[in-house]
Amino acid sequence: MTSIEPTVTEGTRHAAHRTLRVLRTERVTPRMARVTLGGEELAGYPPFAPDQRIKLFFPVAGQSRPAMPRASSGGPVWPPGEPRPIIRSYTVRRFDPDAGELDVDFVLHGEHGPAAEWAARAEPGDWVGVSDPGGRYRPDASAGAHLIIGDESALPAIATVLDALRDFDGPIEAYIEVADPAEEQPLPTTAATRPHWLHRGDAPPGRPLLDAVRAAELPTGVPPSRCQAWLSAEATAVRDIRAHLLDDRALPRRMIYATGYWRATRPR
Ligand SMILES: Cc1cc2nc3c(=O)[nH]c(=O)nc-3n(C[C@H](O)[C@H](O)[C@H](O)COP(=O)(O)OP(=O)(O)OC[C@H]3O[C@@H](n4cnc5c(N)ncnc54)[C@H](O)[C@@H]3O)c2cc1C
Repeated sequence: MTSIEPTVTEGTRHAAHRTLRVLRTERVTPRMARVTLGGEELAGYPPFAPDQRIKLFFPVAGQSRPAMPRASSGGPVWPPGEPRPIIRSYTVRRFDPDAGELDVDFVLHGEHGPAAEWAARAEPGDWVGVSDPGGRYRPDASAGAHLIIGDESALPAIATVLDALRDFDGPIEAYIEVADPAEEQPLPTTAATRPHWLHRGDAPPGRPLLDAVRAAELPTGVPPSRCQAWLSAEATAVRDIRAHLLDDRALPRRMIYATGYWRATRPR
């Protein structure tokens, strides 16, 4: 199989892609697997920042290593004659250039899904393709309060966002929906951070989050115009929560950074 060197293309919008190897795996919680990636092509990977979004490229049946595109000004160029990989979006949970390690945390959601299934089976030496990171979220240092809202698929990003807010001395309200108490994780918090863990149980995904945000008392003394919200979860829940923040709480559009992370295919 052809090895394609990572190509950083100056002056284009197209990210570089690298093929990395699994160094090790661990279970963070019963339903969250951490896969630590490394390898020669990690050299020169962009510096770590909060909420870095990446594309992962998984090999398809019959491949041990995914066929990776070469970046070009006209878009990705795929090697001819090779099946294209399965592509999913994930978050850089940790990048340590000195150790040559990049962590990605995968929800083992229990539905048939190639990414979650790959992570559940991943072993040292396995290959996976990784894009350079994207993402535009930057914590607003002048905000009076921060609202952080997400489900377990957003927990890796939430941890990096809260870490970036360590020096923020105003109120931080974090609403996080997980399957059950065993899925809670230690998070970087300040004295003024209030984490609200919500346990889904048998409720449809996103429902506990929506109900909790609708009932939430937002920090007193901070006008909505100075409240920055970061929001990621199941796509329909994100749409409804975003609408609530805009229409009922009067947060300005520019203060809400919302992303649908996945779409429930069962009725909610
Ligand atoms: C910017 C961004 C960053 C993301 N970061 C992360 C991350 O760091 N960690 C992470 O785990 N996910 C993350 N996600 C979500 C992840 O991309 C999706 O969950 C993806 O659908 C998983 O792919 P899959 O192949 O396992 O399942 P798919 O083939 O996409 O879906 C198969 C089935 O699984 C269901 N499903 C998919 N995801 C979930 C879920 N989380 N819970 C319950 N059911 C699900 C679908 O409804 C479908 O029925 C991120 C998404 C985005 C857009």
